[in-house]
Amino acid sequence: MFYICQAPGCGSRAATRYGIYCSSHKAQLRRHGAIGQRAITKADLKLYRALVAARLEKNKDKPLLTQLEARWGAVLTYAESVREEARRKPMVRYRREAAIEMLRIGKNVQPGDVIETVLAMYVMQDQQPRCFKSDQAFRTQKVRRVRGLTRLNADAWTDAKTGKRKLVYRDLGQRTVTIMGGWIAEALGPAGIMFARLERKDHEKKQEALLAFRDALGSME
Ligand SMILES: [Zn+2]
Repeated sequence: MFYICQAPGCGSRAATRYGIYCSSHKAQLRRHGAIGQRAITKADLKLYRALVAARLEKNKDKPLLTQLEARWGAVLTYAESVREEARRKPMVRYRREAAIEMLRIGKNVQPGDVIETVLAMYVMQDQQPRCFKSDQAFRTQKVRRVRGLTRLNADAWTDAKTGKRKLVYRDLGQRTVTIMGGWIAEALGPAGIMFARLERKDHEKKQEALLAFRDALGSME
């Protein structure tokens, strides 16, 4: 006997005998970090990236960006040491995979791009919390957006029959994503939370100014 997929409103057969989700919901969970989680796109993040870029610009006389770049650099140095360690002795596959993936991102993407994207994710999470079904979904989407800065989630290969180059999009396992998400959060999370808080404060200030203006209008004689 088979179980029915537990995703709301699905009703398909579970993918495996003891599984709780059908194959498409299983894939969604792996790819997006939660059932019902939609992909956060580059377009979704655009506004938040602009806010982050503006704040970095506003603070350009402070060593903020340099420090963030150093923190990102430290993640890459750490990933390098993990990769070296993996050459010398056996290691859990996910850890090695996470290190290799981080190094590929480091090689292909400008640090400033990674930083802006990650901080923008924190601001978006703060302003649109309903866009993220869970912490794991947020972590997964954050890693997805960072990987999306390069084409590295696609492996190119040549079709023997047609001679055409094809791209195969590779999904990382949940555990690899969790490790990567953890490293990114450790390096840039505190700044992300701070940026989100400052954006919120600015927003509240604007609202207060608007209310004060309305009050002033209301008390006019
Ligand atoms: Zn399903």
